[in-house]
Amino acid sequence: MTTATIPIVPEKLLTDPALGDGVGCHAGKEQMNLAARAAGKTAILQQYEKDYPKGPHDQPQSMCPAFGSLRVGLRMRRTATILSGSACCVYGLTFTSHFYGARRSVGYVPFNSESLVTGKLFEDIREAVYKEADPEKYDAIVIINLCVPTASGVPLQLLPKEINGVRIIGIDVPGFGVPTHAEAKDVLAGAMLQYARNEILAGPVQAPRAGKQSKPTVTLLGEMFPADPAVIGMLLDPMELAVGATVPTREWRELYQAIDCSVVGAIHPFYTASIREFQAAGRPIVGSAPVGYEGTANWLAAIGAATNTSADKIAAAQNKFLPAIKGVLSAAPIKGRINVSGYEGSELLVARLLIESGAEVRYVGSACPRTEWSQADLEWLEAKGAQVVFRASLEQDLAAMAEYKPDLAIGTTPVVQAAKQASIPALYFTNLISARPLMGPAGAGSLAQVINAALKNQARFDEMKAFFGNVGTGHAAGVWEDVPVDRPEFKAETRRKLEKKIKKRKAEEMM
Ligand code: SF4
Repeated sequence: MTTATIPIVPEKLLTDPALGDGVGCHAGKEQMNLAARAAGKTAILQQYEKDYPKGPHDQPQSMCPAFGSLRVGLRMRRTATILSGSACCVYGLTFTSHFYGARRSVGYVPFNSESLVTGKLFEDIREAVYKEADPEKYDAIVIINLCVPTASGVPLQLLPKEINGVRIIGIDVPGFGVPTHAEAKDVLAGAMLQYARNEILAGPVQAPRAGKQSKPTVTLLGEMFPADPAVIGMLLDPMELAVGATVPTREWRELYQAIDCSVVGAIHPFYTASIREFQAAGRPIVGSAPVGYEGTANWLAAIGAATNTSADKIAAAQNKFLPAIKGVLSAAPIKGRINVSGYEGSELLVARLLIESGAEVRYVGSACPRTEWSQADLEWLEAKGAQVVFRASLEQDLAAMAEYKPDLAIGTTPVVQAAKQASIPALYFTNLISARPLMGPAGAGSLAQVINAALKNQARFDEMKAFFGNVGTGHAAGVWEDVPVDRPEFKAETRRKLEKKIKKRKAEEMM
């Protein structure tokens, strides 16, 4: 069935020890990286290289990675989040946080070249942390080093681990070390789990707000649609299991609850640092998720096996929900060819659900890396003829659109923009797909409505295209009194000059 011609560069598994020597960045990032290593950040950058391997190309085009950590901090109760970085980065991150509905202030410790090179910035951060550390208001304070302070080696690890009973978590989240904002969520979640695990080892800790669950629990890993954990709880009920915490958590005490589980469901498979903490606590990990008929059947079986649940109980859960899922899927069919791409880490799950709903999915691109925990979904999708690309770049997503000519493209903003320009209906992954339940019977029919409505838009696109023709496209884009004359020779000359400049710079670097 597959006619794939886009080269697939196989990603190595995270467990491959050959990974870790990194992949070349462009000159700016390389220099930042070298500077950070020279300034004492080698160990943390090497850990990031192992946890979040790059390649086949440098790094996906995504927003500032630090947004992931910032968002995790801002969504936690009784937690203050402080940024240390250039004002322009902090402005952008604060703006994006509030655009996405953060209800907390973002702390900021400003700096200038002098305070950066003299080490005064670290003293300023220390002072800010002491001022903020009010146990009446906070359980934890998170300080995030952005690119410049990381490259300058601002040693957040030297901050006290606790001030007045308030936990202090300092992390480096540079764009040159953490590839995507999705993985930056793991940087903070992993650091918090490590802290909480050490607290558990040291003595008794706070119980969950709603009290301890009487049944063995499943911790869920990954940000999900709010109804999804409740649906998963229903699926687990016949197996006499319950849903515990969802990581990233919404408050500190949930971290203890997360660790105190029987098994971890790595719903989003890229939480490598968090998984390391769960494994250190002896918790088994199960990949994939209860999406669609086969996904739900397999996930329940895997969770059952990991928790030594009897075959009868696993069968009871499957028999209770699988017929309903099948019914919903067949009642809400999706007909059409769909490309899926995104940077959230749930792209493979969405593609599975689309295929089970009847759609033809030929391409799935994810900005996240391939891990052991995405293996089952990868194999399932490839068996259905889909090409799956991890660490997919925008160029790969666009090439896949040109190659497979889908009836609908699901993707990031530039993918959607390119699709609409090519008269292909398109949907934003983050705003429209992630904002729906995916799990169990609730997820089975939830995509059909929005997808089928979008598929029906093709006629409108065709009509618009026929009406406007090529007016205002390419070099003539915009509103003009006279249509501008294209000057390919000028462009060729500029390109020639640029190439000459780059060659000259490279030659100078070799000298
Ligand atoms: S990647 Fe680095 S330089 Fe870019 S916005 Fe984020 S912190 Fe600033």
